[in-house]
Amino acid sequence: MSTTLRQSAAVLSIDLAAIVQNWRFLQERSAGAVCASVVKADAYGLSAAAVVPALARAGCQSFFVATLDEAAALQPALAGFEHTRRVFVLGSLGAAMVANAASLGVIPVLNSLGEIEVWSGEARRREQLLPAAIHVDTGMSRLGLPPSEVDMLVDQPERLRGLSLCLIMSHLACAEDPNNPLNERQRQKLAVARMRLSHASAPISLANSAGIFLGEPYHADMVRPGAALYGLAPRPAEQNPMHTVVSLAAPILQVREIDSGTTVGYGATFAAQTPSRIATVGVGYADGFLRSLSNKGAGVIGGVQVPLVGRVSMDLATFDVSALPEAATVPGTMIELIGKNRPIDDVAAEAGTIGYEILTSLGRRYLRAYTPDFI
Ligand SMILES: *Cc1c(COP(=O)(O)O)cnc(C)c1O
Repeated sequence: MSTTLRQSAAVLSIDLAAIVQNWRFLQERSAGAVCASVVKADAYGLSAAAVVPALARAGCQSFFVATLDEAAALQPALAGFEHTRRVFVLGSLGAAMVANAASLGVIPVLNSLGEIEVWSGEARRREQLLPAAIHVDTGMSRLGLPPSEVDMLVDQPERLRGLSLCLIMSHLACAEDPNNPLNERQRQKLAVARMRLSHASAPISLANSAGIFLGEPYHADMVRPGAALYGLAPRPAEQNPMHTVVSLAAPILQVREIDSGTTVGYGATFAAQTPSRIATVGVGYADGFLRSLSNKGAGVIGGVQVPLVGRVSMDLATFDVSALPEAATVPGTMIELIGKNRPIDDVAAEAGTIGYEILTSLGRRYLRAYTPDFI
């Protein structure tokens, strides 16, 4: 890449050592349970190819992805860990995918009696015991066996023939809110399902990131954090105990002084109240810097917050940098858009969304810089 290109590039920094520290912290928080890592959606947009080897080196052995394609893409990242690693696939297992799933050696999370039948059929066809996880719906009404199907499975344990059940899991709907009574109801429903399926004697798992912070009873045998590994606050209402993982900084491309009354950007949605200095940076909604940040977001230069003014466009955003001396805002100066001074959860709140959506929307045009996990 030429120097000129580099000079105008926004830099997305991803701290792999911080991800490992976060995993260790969550592991300690849930001592006694296995701490898996959820790396679906390319590790929440941060690159599973970079994140998974770091977590595997740290000792993580169980990984969750959403689709079989994601599981296949993980294979090179897990080279060297073949004998210890377990890859769980959360999404539905279609009949056409079964042979691939078996040869990849993944553990499908079976979401219905139909999926159990298909996977058990494959085990018998291969005359081989296949590993399986079962997802029980305890309150999300999304994926998983509804109560009627759990009843049938209890009555007809032969449905699990050929399968080695290594996990019974469910997913919390309101884990961020410790006062929501649904948490305890879901926990009890999963405990009952485990008792009723006791012939299968499988470990259980319920907690995502926020679920870990609901306390020990929620840790069960395995916890499944995603968001907190990547630095998002597990509990929005409290101080974030996680290390910052993602920083986004972009250089100022151009600066101009405008008179009061002059407007900025598409739709002329911002008009300067006083003579102002406007800095333009090369990040826009095509980079996942959401358009809903228009006239709401902010950046930070040298510790000083500068408000985002006008609409965010496809490739550009504009900031009012009048609060800083001219010499501190020359083209090339970096504006921090996400990072220690601009927590991703705050940016998400300004955009009217959650940190998860900001992470998974991060674009492909950034210069990505990975801080290694070994120091
Ligand atoms: C995405 C996901 C997780 C991880 O949730 P976080 O809130 O990111 O920690 C855990 N379990 C299931 C079933 C998921 O889909």
